[in-house]
Amino acid sequence: MAKKRQPTVLFDIDGTLLDTHGFGREAFIRGLAHVTGERDELAYVSFAGNTDRNVLDQVMAHRKLHLAEAETRRIFARIAEELRDLLRANPGKEIAGARRLLKHLAAKGTALGLVTGNIRACAYLKLGSVRFDRYFGFGGFGDEHADRAQIARSALAAAQAAGVEVAAGAVCLVGDTPFDVAAGRTLGIPVIGVATGKYGPEDLRKAGATLTMADYSDLDGLLGWLGETLK
Ligand SMILES: [Mg+2]
Repeated sequence: MAKKRQPTVLFDIDGTLLDTHGFGREAFIRGLAHVTGERDELAYVSFAGNTDRNVLDQVMAHRKLHLAEAETRRIFARIAEELRDLLRANPGKEIAGARRLLKHLAAKGTALGLVTGNIRACAYLKLGSVRFDRYFGFGGFGDEHADRAQIARSALAAAQAAGVEVAAGAVCLVGDTPFDVAAGRTLGIPVIGVATGKYGPEDLRKAGATLTMADYSDLDGLLGWLGETLK
């Protein structure tokens, strides 16, 4: 496939593009309960900025259990089924201004990818519930790796496989937690920290975000910054 050199923006999903009323956590709890026969409220797990594979690792460490990969896959598949049911009754809610941003970036020919802690199927269910799925042809997902930096590496590899030539200096990441910022920094990618989730601008700045925004209201400012940054 002929590769096309394109500026690339990688997006986190939850708290960055949309909110799904805590369904990610509830689907995880239900999926796990279905396979293990025991409902665990997972009070000891924080989901913001976490990855589904890491959540499962935390649960198993807590229970002092080890799962075979086939069992893990079974739990992930069930979580996606539970999420599908939850979203059918109550779709996600987009973060104000996210649709406008995606539309503008897509119209300018920017390649858009995902770096999310969600299981791939769950990522597309959430995006599909607000019709954002059409914007994202590739990404790195939380069923592949527990570590977000690894997920970001996987997204870059997926971009290449999709025919996008991601040149150094022409890619950035957008996320709402210090974990997104840390992943971008590990890879040497600039990160836009957007305080539309559970963390404030100061948290994201302290984590090392290259640019921090309260929300997407200054679209022109953001597009201008991206134009300058992604050469
Ligand atoms: Mg997030």
